[in-house]
Amino acid sequence: MSERSELTDDFDEVRDVTVIGAGPVGLSAAFWAGMREASSRVIDSLPDLGGQLTALYPEKWIFDVPGHPRVLAKELVELMRRQTLEQFDVPVHLETTAQRISWEDGLVVLHTDKGDLRSRTVVIAGGHGAFEPKKLPGYDMTPWEGRGAYYLVGEKSEFAGKRVLIVGGGDSACDWVVNLLDVAERVSLVHRREGFRAHEATVAQVMEAHAGGRIDLHVPFQIKAIEGNGHVERVRLFHSEDESREVELEADAILLQLGFKTALGPLKEWGLEISKGAIVVDPLMKTNLDAVWACGDITTFDGKLKLIATGFGEAAIAISQAIHHIRPEMKIQPKYSTNTGVPGAVEGDPTSPSA
Ligand SMILES: Cc1cc2nc3c(=O)[nH]c(=O)nc-3n(C[C@H](O)[C@H](O)[C@H](O)COP(=O)(O)OP(=O)(O)OC[C@H]3O[C@@H](n4cnc5c(N)ncnc54)[C@H](O)[C@@H]3O)c2cc1C
Repeated sequence: MSERSELTDDFDEVRDVTVIGAGPVGLSAAFWAGMREASSRVIDSLPDLGGQLTALYPEKWIFDVPGHPRVLAKELVELMRRQTLEQFDVPVHLETTAQRISWEDGLVVLHTDKGDLRSRTVVIAGGHGAFEPKKLPGYDMTPWEGRGAYYLVGEKSEFAGKRVLIVGGGDSACDWVVNLLDVAERVSLVHRREGFRAHEATVAQVMEAHAGGRIDLHVPFQIKAIEGNGHVERVRLFHSEDESREVELEADAILLQLGFKTALGPLKEWGLEISKGAIVVDPLMKTNLDAVWACGDITTFDGKLKLIATGFGEAAIAISQAIHHIRPEMKIQPKYSTNTGVPGAVEGDPTSPSA
């Protein structure tokens, strides 16, 4: 995603809503705010829009966003960027982390690592909080990071024509084996244990590719050494049960897919009611903090589903409530967009029967 935003000139402005998180749910919250003619801004600690979709699975198809028989994760983020940021004035602060919260003169103050942001309300769409990839136990990859060792796939094309060694035994490792087959020159999968923790269907695809000679499988093997002149060139593996058994492979890239550590991070200290690592909200998506709502993966309540589709609905509720809190005369139920259009961008249809 190339949409790096420098639009950070609204530090002195009081906005109606500050949305924490530029994942799909945060972007939809800003969209709903625009539809209610409320001003918003979005902040995210990551350098790109899209949350998990961009950081974890940009090249995967999503099949369960209603209205899209299937959509690539990165494409959905781009559509949301257009729907939200191109139609409404929504300043985006990337690489900006909300660290503390306070209240003054009827406003909420978010203290970020880039400065203080004031708004009438805050909507937290922080997903799993700040997430970082798990490192390889037993081998220090730091010297090879940026020199052929990857934790994330931004664009598949980065691996075009390369000999890629994927490390891991879970869903993402197996998914990338299958996904990179059409671009990489050669894909090898290394896992330290027998057996994979991935979805059966994906493991079957990996095994089929192996049986057809399209990938190399090294199980149970682990990384012993990496060699190269300033960049990964060769990898030495050892057998997990017999260290003297070694295999040497030529590789241009090592993709470590060992899972992610997620943590609510700074949000834990804000006095929010937390249950099992998520923010407890009531049916109105309200948190226990004054003028603070939450939506998306970060919330928990009876019947909670962690899905993009349900997150969109939670965002609509959170925003309607937040705007009603600021302007009690505004109805909770939005007017239909078929009638209103997109305020400031697209006309609605006043002749529509329900207008
Ligand atoms: C491999 C994989 C496949 C998936 N497939 C599907 C699928 O097919 N269908 C589906 O519906 N769902 C799927 N999901 C789940 C889906 O991605 C999540 O439900 C969705 O991303 C939640 O969106 P969100 O906006 O709530 O959170 P996120 O996407 O996690 O975004 C939250 C953002 O908040 C930011 N943030 C957190 N704390 C702070 C802070 N203090 N300051 C600033 N920024 C902060 C984070 O950096 C992050 O960018 C999948 C997830 C994974 C991992």
